[in-house]
Amino acid sequence: MSSDCLFCRIVAGELPAAQVYSDSAVVAIRDIAPQAPTHVLLLSRKHIPSVRDLTEADGADVSALFAAAARIAAQEGVSPGGYRLVVNVGRDGGQTVDHLHVHLLGGRPMAWPPG
Ligand code: AMP
Ligand code: ZN
Repeated sequence: MSSDCLFCRIVAGELPAAQVYSDSAVVAIRDIAPQAPTHVLLLSRKHIPSVRDLTEADGADVSALFAAAARIAAQEGVSPGGYRLVVNVGRDGGQTVDHLHVHLLGGRPMAWPPG
């Protein structure tokens, strides 16, 4: 855990969040500024700053994020219609919080290409 990391503090329960799911590797919360009717953030429990920092040793954490995303999408009722998973990486990728997370967006049709 990194004490100056917003998402580490949410994972640790030090800051409030609307939690929708939790397991041994993942905590999922509702995004504070939703961009779709369903907008859930899946946070790794482990502090990994970004995809740029991933190594083979993080394989279980990454697979847990995607498996949890599929479960939450079903739970939220967006699985049959489809949804989008987004991972922003670095400044040009639009990443604003340096703690690995996956956006789950659903409940409306998604445009392509993304902005
Ligand atoms: P990213 O820009 O990919 O790093 O995503 C960060 C996301 O975190 C943004 O969609 C923000 O709206 C969201 N966010 C920031 N602070 C909070 C918070 N306290 N609780 C929930 N979501 C947050
Ligand atoms: Zn962190």
